[in-house]
Amino acid sequence: MKSYLDSQFEQGGVIVTRLDDLINWARLSSMWPMTFGIACCAIEFMATGTSAYDMDRFGMAPRASPRQADVMIIAGTVTFKMADRIKRLYDQMSEPRYVISMGSCSNCGGPYWEHGYHVVKGVDRIVPVDVYVPGCPPRPEALIGGFLKLQEKIRGESRMAPTALKKLMKS
Ligand code: SF4
Repeated sequence: MKSYLDSQFEQGGVIVTRLDDLINWARLSSMWPMTFGIACCAIEFMATGTSAYDMDRFGMAPRASPRQADVMIIAGTVTFKMADRIKRLYDQMSEPRYVISMGSCSNCGGPYWEHGYHVVKGVDRIVPVDVYVPGCPPRPEALIGGFLKLQEKIRGESRMAPTALKKLMKS
């Protein structure tokens, strides 16, 4: 049975799509997470990159520099001491950038939420979070689930700022 793309190419090789869809497809197919971990959840993040889970199949290639990464995975306990570093690394990433909060510690303080005087009660107090992955620690499958959620979010993004869209509609 012929696929939709096969039949499109037979009709002259032209595919009609929206620019937003094309850019979003390219972006969500090549997310580059920063190699960065702050506690035990990072072990599961590392396991996600192994051949057993193979995150490369989603186009994800970990990068060692924030300037080359577009996804930050907060994998671990966010202490007040680390908070400044996290913010600095986030600021060094170029736009558009995304944040996945991985695990209870990063989501809300985890086991330290009540008596952990040194722990930030949720990394969203420092940087904006796009996807929260629950668990202590979340398994690699859960992190992959978080990536898929982020892909869904990127798929629905619009490049057009509302004002630019209004101007275009008026013209
Ligand atoms: S959520 Fe659990 S596994 Fe993850 S950093 Fe906190 S204590 Fe460690």
